[in-house]
Amino acid sequence: MIEQFFNWYHREGRSLPWREQPEPYPVFLSEVILQQTRVEQGLAYFHRFMDTFPTVQDLANATEEEVLKLWQGLGYYSRARNLHKAAKHLMEIHQGIFPSNFNELIKIPGVGPYTARAILAFAFSKPEVAADGNIWRVTSRFFGLNNEFPSKKTMELTQELWKDWVVQQPSVFNNAMMDLGSGICTPKQPKCEQCPLQSQCFSFPSGAWVNLPFKEKKTKVKPLTLVYLISKSDGKVLMKKRTENTIWANMYDFPEITFPSHWDSEMDIQEEISKNSRVRTVHSVAKQSFHLLSHRKIQPFFCFVDFVPILQLEREEKWIPLEQIHELPVPKIIESLIATF
Ligand code: SF4
Repeated sequence: MIEQFFNWYHREGRSLPWREQPEPYPVFLSEVILQQTRVEQGLAYFHRFMDTFPTVQDLANATEEEVLKLWQGLGYYSRARNLHKAAKHLMEIHQGIFPSNFNELIKIPGVGPYTARAILAFAFSKPEVAADGNIWRVTSRFFGLNNEFPSKKTMELTQELWKDWVVQQPSVFNNAMMDLGSGICTPKQPKCEQCPLQSQCFSFPSGAWVNLPFKEKKTKVKPLTLVYLISKSDGKVLMKKRTENTIWANMYDFPEITFPSHWDSEMDIQEEISKNSRVRTVHSVAKQSFHLLSHRKIQPFFCFVDFVPILQLEREEKWIPLEQIHELPVPKIIESLIATF
């Protein structure tokens, strides 16, 4: 199987300048650029850098403006600054020569465990697996693993799982895995019928690749200010049933005003409510503690108001007798308030 895999790479693998010239400096440069962009776009930047700064010393002697100018268009300019610092570090500490051990490599500005392993495998033929997203995708599908990535543990596991493969030809193994991950074992619709690993792949027969690698969805937590307008009148309180597709759907709370940011000042809230055409008088405004949901960080305010005498009720609003209020389902955010009614 290993031989088949390596043969596939020799037949189908991409020809790239840093592969033909696997010296530490071009390997490092290509890795930094490819962290920022795809191979197709990265090629032009790679040539531009190599033509302008053919050696570590040339890069170290450049001004930061020159480096940033060459990097222009790639974005995330701290990478370019670190690239420049890395060259200076290499000149100052290592006389412009890349060290060939992991602990020294990761001291170079901008070099993390992945880049250090890539340099070791490609430029020094050390049996290191440079586990990036592509390699992890192949690994998780091939072995049927759903560990989270990236993590130190998963990197170590990847190293362990492929150790018998990578030791044979470190550079060929890593390049082959990268090409397999970017061209065959793609995130959607992998081309399993063309895959050299197919016969031993855990995911192939069952189609388990659909759920691999496991991705924990990180939900962005958005701020929200929620101002409740609370009004009691004749032993009743005006409440509303929350509609479908809103938070706390079908539960009861009060008419509200919301803002898609966090408001801090009770005075500002009071001023804002005073402008509301439904409100006649604002009696009090009380800021509450933050309320956290998976996707929202809510800053609540409880505002006791009188509504205008002839109030047009919204469809979901209803005057509820105080003695019935405790029977209604209400969100936690107003539970303790309701208990005082
Ligand atoms: S057989 Fe399919 S799922 Fe398995 S490694 Fe190859 S492309 Fe990926």
